[in-house]
Parts: sequence; structure tokens; C-alpha cells
Amino acid sequence: MRKQIVAGNWKMNNDLTETEVLIAELKRQNKTSNAEVMIAPVFTNLYHAYEALRKDNIEVVAQNMHYDNNGAYTGEVSANMLKCVGVNTVILGHSERRAYFNENDEALAKKVDAALDHDMRVIFCFGEELNDRKSDNHFNIVESQIKNALFHLEDKDWNSIVLAYEPVWAIGTGETATPEQAQEMHAFIRQTIEEKYGNNIAQSVSILYGGSVKPNNAKEIFTKPDVDGGLIGGASLKAEDFFAIVNAF
Ligand code: PEP
Repeated sequence: MRKQIVAGNWKMNNDLTETEVLIAELKRQNKTSNAEVMIAPVFTNLYHAYEALRKDNIEVVAQNMHYDNNGAYTGEVSANMLKCVGVNTVILGHSERRAYFNENDEALAKKVDAALDHDMRVIFCFGEELNDRKSDNHFNIVESQIKNALFHLEDKDWNSIVLAYEPVWAIGTGETATPEQAQEMHAFIRQTIEEKYGNNIAQSVSILYGGSVKPNNAKEIFTKPDVDGGLIGGASLKAEDFFAIVNAF
């Protein structure tokens, strides 16, 4: 049985006070759910969030990390630093990191390795841009993003990998992939994994969908057979909306 996961990517939002307020609201609304629930606050609030949620079933995860352990990388944070503050899962390859911070497949492959070396779980994001879809190149793009960053992994590593398909044209735009478009791509992703790693691994990896998931469209998307949850941006900033999405399972 694949894990169902709903992860809230807070991006560069919420200072310490706002983080405290939102976490208090999340704790009020939280009840047992079928999905694993995660939130990804900014680096500076990770420890505080971890402490505040350590008795709750909401995991605190990071939005990014560097691939090296330490060194002359001004402004960066490493896997062991995240682990020290209670973080065991990291989002890697988000389209905003790729677009604004020039993260490429090669760097992402190194980040994935560093996370796995530190026994961390990775939520690996990828997805095509609008012109890729318009030119019918979206399957090729997604396939190469997965192959370039993940196909050097060994079978056992896949226990620690969660995939997140996020079409760039649907992120923060209010435009969602239709449930059918999401299912079509998720089935393709699973088939791509199966061709390299076999059916067991392909069937056990969770594939999340991200891109303008809201309370009013979550259920339709999550009922698709190859969609195992969501990576949620904007709607994760309101506890009520976030839990409406979590409870869509
Ligand atoms: C995201 O940033 O990963 C995301 C899916 O954002 P939104 O839900 O706002 O489209």
C-alpha cells in the first residue's frame, strides 16, 4: 500500500509570529487522517516548528538544502544541519529553485545523494513548463528530469524517495492540471520507474501532484489511481484550507 501524503510548502512566507499562529491553528484542526501530513516552513523557523509539533502527527520538512556537509557556501544549509533541528525530510528540485536559483539536474542528483547519505527522505519535484506542454514535449521533459537526477540510485534508495509532479504552468497560477492530465502523467512516471526498477518499486513509490490544489478540486485529483497526495503551496497557508485538502482523502 503506497503512502498518501499531503505536504504544505510555505515557501518564503510566515515570520516567527505568523508561524506560531498558523501552527496553533493547524494543531486545533488536526485529527487522524488517512494521509501523512507535512509542512515546510522557512529555514529560520524549522526548529521552532519542530518543537511545537513534536507531539503531533505533522512532520516538519525543509524546502531545500545544499549537497555538501559544510564549507564556503554563503547562505546555504546542509543535511546534517537540518537533521540537528529535527528535520528528516527535504523538498528538492522545486520549480522555483530551478528557475530562480539555477538548480540543474546535476546539482539535484548530488543533493538527493547527500540527503540519502544522511538517512533523509526526499520529496523530489519536477514538471514541464507551459511551452513544453503546448509543443507536446511534456513527457520527454519529465522523463529526463527523473532520469538525470534519480536513475543512478540503487533499488533500496527508493524507500526514501517521494515524487512530486508539478507542472510549472499550474503552480501559483490558479490553473490546475485536470485530474485526467494528472493521472496520465502520473501513470507515465510510474511506468518510467517500472522500466528501470521493476514493478515493486514502481508500485510502492508515492507520486504527489502539485499545482493550485485547493479544497474544491483536491478530491477529484486525489481519487485518481496514480495520484498519492499533493504538494500544496498557496492553500497550505490557511489551516482550514489545508486540512480540507488533507481530509479530501
Ligand atoms: C508549490 O509551490 O509547490 C505549489 C504547488 O504551489 P500552489 O499550490 O500555490 O500552486
